Amino acid sequence: MKDPLSRQTITVVRRMDKTPLLTHFKDLGLPEPILRAVAAQGHETPTPIQAKVIPLMLQGRDVVGIAQTGTGKTASFVLPVLTYAFVDDEKPDRKHCKFLIITPTRELATQITETIQVSRRFIAASVHTIVGGAKMGPQVKALARGVDVIVATPGRLMDHMAQGTLVLDQVRAVVLDEADQMMDLGFLPAIQKIVKALPPKRQTVLMSATMPPAIRALADQFLNDPAEISVAPQSQPIDRIEQTVIHGPADEKRENLLRVLADKKAKSTIIFTRTKRGADRLEKFLKAEGHEAAAIHGDKAHGQRERALRKFKQGDVTVLVATDIAARGIDIDGVSHVVNFELPNVPESYVHRIGRTARAGASGVAVSLVAADELKHLRAIEKVIGQKIDAIGDVPQEIHKAKPRRGGRPQGKPRNASGAKPGAPKSGRPQRNRRNKPSSNNRSGPRSQRNKSAA
Ligand code: AMP
Repeated sequence: MKDPLSRQTITVVRRMDKTPLLTHFKDLGLPEPILRAVAAQGHETPTPIQAKVIPLMLQGRDVVGIAQTGTGKTASFVLPVLTYAFVDDEKPDRKHCKFLIITPTRELATQITETIQVSRRFIAASVHTIVGGAKMGPQVKALARGVDVIVATPGRLMDHMAQGTLVLDQVRAVVLDEADQMMDLGFLPAIQKIVKALPPKRQTVLMSATMPPAIRALADQFLNDPAEISVAPQSQPIDRIEQTVIHGPADEKRENLLRVLADKKAKSTIIFTRTKRGADRLEKFLKAEGHEAAAIHGDKAHGQRERALRKFKQGDVTVLVATDIAARGIDIDGVSHVVNFELPNVPESYVHRIGRTARAGASGVAVSLVAADELKHLRAIEKVIGQKIDAIGDVPQEIHKAKPRRGGRPQGKPRNASGAKPGAPKSGRPQRNRRNKPSSNNRSGPRSQRNKSAA
């Protein structure tokens, strides 16, 4: 059964939070240098999660925060941690750290470290990223000196604990970021071992987009009378995203994808695939079609992933093919399009995926390529987002079976192999084109389709 709290989060996520924020950073109890660091980043008003979590952390409370990326949750725990480092500037012992932030992916770890580093002009705290896929040597060397703040993924953290290059018995505050994602990735046993290695007297903060029972149990076991905070994104991007579904058989997805990419407005596109191999195959195909493409997923080396992301941010790569895990929490402004090459089977992932566009107040386009066997996922997504997504192309028969229409086509009347109505073009080309139509710009379209109308 679905956890009621996780449902509640999704409901909250859909609602646009238009409440004016009354708080100022200076009212939250942050010291002067931290306020200067915040101002240097151009942040004027705390987001709701910051307004709630920062004072609680500064009071020393344990906190459970139900918040997604995009809510400003990173700064909500980073600013208090930096405040502690500022107030108590005693150097950490060798092979020890004072503050520990654990997060599921290397990308998120790097992003959090970057957020901390921006403030280092104002606060002299040392920070180091401890993630898998990177060389052990530099990490061992940094840990040997002692580090104020460690941002780590669970696997590599365990490696250092096992070989004695990091000892956690002096940690004063620990943050478990994206706890639900860590659980999805099978990190729960590692998290439990890590938390058990921490001193009992410490502050613990747990951030999670949803609160399934296993995370609730983790919070009950390891947090001491936590304050619980649940917030919606400040401005839910879904309202600013033009969403479209293109129906068509799986073997036409590549062709339809090329049409989407041929849109002049598709300047920076993330394409989601369900599998790592699928991502690699698509990257290869897109390169062969003349696109500047790169793929990121769990099997790519850390360096490769970092390079691909950097190039994508700089605009040298215009198409990034990614799996859900690798793209989780990636915060890149200016992503114009998100394409779901396959729909995710977890509806919440759809919300997460399309949230990669329309960031920082911009608008965005999300296109999903949907084959007949994905209709059940589409229905589940539409239920979660509370709206029907505009469709292009012929909706396969299954969808009509679910909702018989009086006077409509007799139930069970066969369509042709592509799922199109008898007499429709074989390929089931995208037919309707109310908005957000895949471009008919033939020059950059698929080779086989050049000089043909995109309908
Ligand atoms: P996060 O949810 O931590 O991934 O943050 C999402 C984005 O919000 C990042 O680009 C942050 O730089 C930005 N951000 C964080 N705090 C604020 C704030 N108080 N005002 C405006 N933007 C912010």
